Amino acid sequence: MKLYNTLSRSLEEFKPIDPPHVGLYTCGPTVYNFQHIGNYRTYIFEDTLNRVLTLSGFAVKHVMNVTDVGHLVSQGDEGEDKMEVGASREGKGAWEIARIYTEAFLRDCRDLNFLAPDILCRATDHIPEQIALIQRLEAKGFIYKTSDGLYFDTARFPSYGRLAGLSHIAGIREGFRVEANPQKRHPTDFAVWKFSPQGAKRQMEWESPWGVGFPGWHIECSAMAMKYLGESFDIHCGGVDHVAIHHANEIAQAEAATGKPFVRFWMHGEFLLMNNAKMAKSAGGFVTLADLKEKGFDPLDYRYHCLGAHYRKQLDFTWEALEASQAARRRLCEAIRPLPEEGEGESEFTQRLRERLADDLDTAGALAALWDGLRSDLGPFQKSRLADLAEDALGLGLFHEESMELAPELQELLNRRAFARREKDFALSDSLRQELEVKGILVEDTRQGQRWRKK
Ligand code: AMP
Ligand code: ZN
Repeated sequence: MKLYNTLSRSLEEFKPIDPPHVGLYTCGPTVYNFQHIGNYRTYIFEDTLNRVLTLSGFAVKHVMNVTDVGHLVSQGDEGEDKMEVGASREGKGAWEIARIYTEAFLRDCRDLNFLAPDILCRATDHIPEQIALIQRLEAKGFIYKTSDGLYFDTARFPSYGRLAGLSHIAGIREGFRVEANPQKRHPTDFAVWKFSPQGAKRQMEWESPWGVGFPGWHIECSAMAMKYLGESFDIHCGGVDHVAIHHANEIAQAEAATGKPFVRFWMHGEFLLMNNAKMAKSAGGFVTLADLKEKGFDPLDYRYHCLGAHYRKQLDFTWEALEASQAARRRLCEAIRPLPEEGEGESEFTQRLRERLADDLDTAGALAALWDGLRSDLGPFQKSRLADLAEDALGLGLFHEESMELAPELQELLNRRAFARREKDFALSDSLRQELEVKGILVEDTRQGQRWRKK
């Protein structure tokens, strides 16, 4: 399997450190607002990566964090904590905001068919680990103190910025003409611990050896990734906006502390654009999964839409294009519905599907293989096998039931029939089928249980 590694800027053969185990860390949401479909494009890429690795025989341990403290409004460690911004926007507490938007995120993840991470870790549950990592860095001389917090001295870490490319770092250094905190030694230095402002009590703050305050954003990912995946692990993902700062800083903190390479493969998803600009909360116009549902889209139509493009290419969002994806996914479901429940037999198409996915997740190529196979003269069992494989890898909900409102009385009959079938009481299930037909509902049995439609 070949994957593109941002660190080497090339496609590399993927070999885990300790096969068949694969440690996978993906940067999760900052829970101060709803995630938008741009964020979900990145998570869709990451979930697909997880699925494809699993399908290729790897035992993936997936860790995802939830940022519920310390992500400041500006990338330069300035401005308010996004959590406190969310809290004052809604007149609620920061802890409540975190709970509300974490739950909303997890609901969206279920709607998008994501495999649940093996470990979902909140930054606020790992304050001692973050303090311990800062202490380790302090003991090695990487940390200095200013009046507003502790900073990592990037000049002491010679390979700083290798991930982003040195010219990029030079750009950051030149770009910062006026430092908001003049005590910072270099523009690329970043906060690992911020002190609570004098006299003002923050909603989220902790004691530390240096004074009451809260962790910087980057330190949480280094500390939690190493806690759950070890000091060196296989794959770390996020959106491309994380390359230059967040991930560069994660590497610096982890490698300065351990002296070991932190991560083998860095993988980044490209942006979803809207009107030629990155979709972002700050940019105002952003679309949520709830907006899609309100317009009659299944969240999985959006997943299909994203998988039609390569994860390393920008994707411009339009409602018209999403409609085309919805229609295509519906046709796919229709083509698969009559196939036998149990698929069997490899074919040139299953082979092509695997090959496309092993080529740096060419999901568009995999979808084309699925379509070609379904349109070919392959037998129904082989087609069914192909559909199973595609569903495992792409998670498109190809076998899902349509969810349509039905009178409760009819729903009850359907439930009883489904139950009878599971209990292999075929006499009862047949008589219930006839009863439903008389009432205008035709029932058909498929691989994912019974389906119904109005007569
Ligand atoms: P955040 O909640 O801002 O920390 O972002 C969560 C994830 O979404 C990160 O991996 C970001 O890199 C990613 N992301 C943010 N905006 C976009 C976008 N417009 N398109 C794709 N990914 C994005
Ligand atoms: Zn992170």
